[in-house]
Amino acid sequence: MDGDVGVIGLGSMGSMALWRIAKKGISVIGFEQFGIGHDYSAAGGESRIFRTAYGEGAEYVPILKESYRLWRELERESGNTLLHLTGALMIGEPDTPFMANVLKSAKNFDLEHEVLDEQQWKKRYPQHRPLPGEIMVLDKLAGGLRPELAVVSAVKQAEKLGAKVYSHCRVESIKNTGNTIQVMANGKEYHFKKVVIATGPWTSVFMPNPKRQIHAKRLVMGWFAAKDIKKFQQDNFPVYIRESGEDKFYGTPTFEGSMVKAAVYHDFGTLQHPDELERTMMPEDLKHLRETVQKYLPDLYPDPVRTGVYMDGFTNDEHSFVGSIDEDGCIILLGGFSGHGFKMSSAIGKIAADLVLDGNTSFDIGHLSPTRFYQKNSV
Ligand SMILES: Cc1cc2nc3c(=O)[nH]c(=O)nc-3n(C[C@H](O)[C@H](O)[C@H](O)COP(=O)(O)OP(=O)(O)OC[C@H]3O[C@@H](n4cnc5c(N)ncnc54)[C@H](O)[C@@H]3O)c2cc1C
Repeated sequence: MDGDVGVIGLGSMGSMALWRIAKKGISVIGFEQFGIGHDYSAAGGESRIFRTAYGEGAEYVPILKESYRLWRELERESGNTLLHLTGALMIGEPDTPFMANVLKSAKNFDLEHEVLDEQQWKKRYPQHRPLPGEIMVLDKLAGGLRPELAVVSAVKQAEKLGAKVYSHCRVESIKNTGNTIQVMANGKEYHFKKVVIATGPWTSVFMPNPKRQIHAKRLVMGWFAAKDIKKFQQDNFPVYIRESGEDKFYGTPTFEGSMVKAAVYHDFGTLQHPDELERTMMPEDLKHLRETVQKYLPDLYPDPVRTGVYMDGFTNDEHSFVGSIDEDGCIILLGGFSGHGFKMSSAIGKIAADLVLDGNTSFDIGHLSPTRFYQKNSV
């Protein structure tokens, strides 16, 4: 045995799993095909929105509250500031499924929030152009995370706790030999009792499955200059998600002082292979983003001054897979976070450590079970 546990992929989920597994005193080795904190995949682009009143489903709230606690723990241990609490504005008509879930989360879990009507909206957040019939919900336990620094912080903390890290080391295959889980990486053989797969958009390539349950999708973002950058600071411009009819987009205040990030939910293409990600912003990508900013954020100049192209693994129902995928419970999959996983990665790391050590977790992860699409023993 080379260690009790191998973690494959040290991006968002894998880095947090490595940290939490090492914290339990279990011997663990992490493999990452690129450098630690790289931005070729899902965790790049300077910021990720953290929010707790959750439009994707109120069942996530306990995981999100735990994530908040663990982000603060990682900050204390690493000495790095990772989460800036700005609040989050959820904007849209109150009866859309997204907004209904936001309100349900706030109500069912007694989350600190405010519902703003059009007059209050205009007074407090004039940066967003109002549309008739829409409301704003201000989720107070929300803000912006620093993803690259968070990944590096978690891996460094894990190393301090005894974890081994092999960067620039691509895992080529894993196999259950009956006694061990065999991992081949950069041509070398390793053996573990258990393995956590956290390979993000590469999951379907790495773990061939005829149905390709996780698809790599391209996502783009832009950073915009403001007519007056003072209007887009962390204390007066919370992170936001807006759904206005067909237009779905999100953004953050300025974190570095000169630009404001905005991005649209739009089909920018499914990749045949994640190694083929086109990282240049195309004119057709830009058109949608430009028009959205022009229409809804009149105090920004609509031509981005910086752009970024990333990707994430998506499932068919846009909820992730968290759980074991073999009968023995030796192979744990964390994948398919479908464009909304970063905020919860700290708690997902903890859940992975629970699954490794105990085979179960106190968190309700029924809605994330891989068996809703995967056959057990499909690896
Ligand atoms: C543009 C964009 C904006 C987003 N905005 C938000 C947001 O505001 N809030 C939010 O919560 N979420 C957001 N998300 C989603 C979130 O970032 C992702 O869901 C999350 O980062 C996915 O984490 P992951 O660990 O699955 O993948 P990754 O972070 O990509 O990690 C996978 C890792 O595995 C490595 N790997 C793959 N194959 C191998 C192999 N064979 N051997 C070794 N290593 C391997 C990769 O190199 C990578 O480091 C956004 C995503 C994108 C792309």
